Amino acid sequence: MGAVAEQNETRSGIGHTTHFINGEWSKAGGRTFPDYNPYNGELVAEIAAGGRAESEAAVVAAHAAFPAWAAMLPAERQRLFFKAADITERRLDDIVHTMAIETGASKTFATFQVRWSVTLMRQAANWGYLPYGDVMRSDTPGRFAMVTRKPLGVVAGFTPWNGAFNLAWRAIVLPMAFGNTVVIKPSEEAPISAGLLQAEILEEAGFPAGTVNVVTHAPGEAATVADVFFESRAVRCINFTGSDKTARILGGRAGQALKRSVLELGGYNPLLVLADANMDDAVNAAVFGTFFHQGQICMNTRKVLIEQPIHDEFVKRVAAKALTLKSGDPLKADTIIGPLINDAALASAVSRVKDATDRGARLVVGGTSEGRIYAPTVLTHVPHDAIVASQLQETFGPVLVVESVNSAEEALQRAQETPYGLSAAIMTTNQARGLDLAQRFDTGVIHVNASTMAGEPSLPTTGVKDSGWGSSGYYSVHDFTELRLTTLTQGSAHYPF
Ligand code: ADP
Repeated sequence: MGAVAEQNETRSGIGHTTHFINGEWSKAGGRTFPDYNPYNGELVAEIAAGGRAESEAAVVAAHAAFPAWAAMLPAERQRLFFKAADITERRLDDIVHTMAIETGASKTFATFQVRWSVTLMRQAANWGYLPYGDVMRSDTPGRFAMVTRKPLGVVAGFTPWNGAFNLAWRAIVLPMAFGNTVVIKPSEEAPISAGLLQAEILEEAGFPAGTVNVVTHAPGEAATVADVFFESRAVRCINFTGSDKTARILGGRAGQALKRSVLELGGYNPLLVLADANMDDAVNAAVFGTFFHQGQICMNTRKVLIEQPIHDEFVKRVAAKALTLKSGDPLKADTIIGPLINDAALASAVSRVKDATDRGARLVVGGTSEGRIYAPTVLTHVPHDAIVASQLQETFGPVLVVESVNSAEEALQRAQETPYGLSAAIMTTNQARGLDLAQRFDTGVIHVNASTMAGEPSLPTTGVKDSGWGSSGYYSVHDFTELRLTTLTQGSAHYPF
């Protein structure tokens, strides 16, 4: 590992590549790890490799900053969030550039993430003025009872590499808007986009020292940083976005330590296309839903369950549209399909498509790769036991399985066989039928006549079953605050003895 790059002197033009702890950019132990561009393998930056000491310092700083942040007047907090939103908006171009070279995000996806984040900040800026409790009726004569919401303390956020920028903002803004302070541990695949950029913006906006802290770490060293979160009494909540495999470890440890956990995990997201669907709308929903960000988003469509009479026409149209998607360098404005995040992701897509075709699936289009770019791929006639169709694991790549069904009821039943429950969608021109089916779906999110990916910062995104728990938008008040009951009894209380 080389020396830590000086601030503002990295090759990419990226600013800080060191930890942000207690309002200071710290090189700490001096170890670094390389952060590579997934498209061309070039070095983006040398990033500080943190461990236990940095994690402890970050938790101490967040704990010390908590009382003042929790007590800050709503107007002051609002002013800071507005300022951070303005800075983020001003920096749109450089942030989009950074996301392209660090995470392979297309201009469309990166721009979406920036706008989503700015909107969230402006919405959350107002939450300090919303009611934060209730006055309750009591059955005890003379008793006045009120229930108030209080922030938890320090919330430790694990931020992912895929929606790196906006999901890191989600991990910062939601807890902080309700008065918590945060420590962020970005994914080792995207430490800049998923933490360090946010710290730069919050510093410039004038957020008090210690309210947000970012500790980066080398690959394979996540647990060293995370151990501190579980051991510390100051950390009251583990806020994780990632795979259910890792969530089982982190959620289990949070349970052992009696800490809250918020787990936003993957899904196996079906798109149901009923025979009466508008074909153009169905094709567009499937292609966008499957191939946006190369299929590396938890809400991407993994399978289309389509009524048999329109199956062949749909497959033909989806395949034709998939072939029009331009792939290449995400820095080019017209690129839709960029690289997969790393070699393991590419190998997984390759082997799962091979597993399907070995078992007899038909490869309609795709199935090829160039560098880390995997071509948009459509498979039909896939046996249910092929990994890519089993609904037991998501394939984080641009791979769509199209499965023919005999009825909407069969589609619903098949779609529910997965242990996951994140997002689903139904295409139909019969709105009443669409709503009826939607109500019977076991997913946290279901869209009628839109893609499985139709998130907005104000709308709650929540998983059920193995997709986790916790919410986003204002509903996250339930995740990041706890209830306190206060009563006042006027006159003398009566006791049984
Ligand atoms: P992904 O497949 O999206 O990389 P993971 O669930 O494997 O998702 O990892 C998500 C995050 O969890 C990463 O930031 C990684 O550093 C962290 N992580 C992975 N394993 C552990 C662990 N045992 N303890 C703490 N953090 C972990």
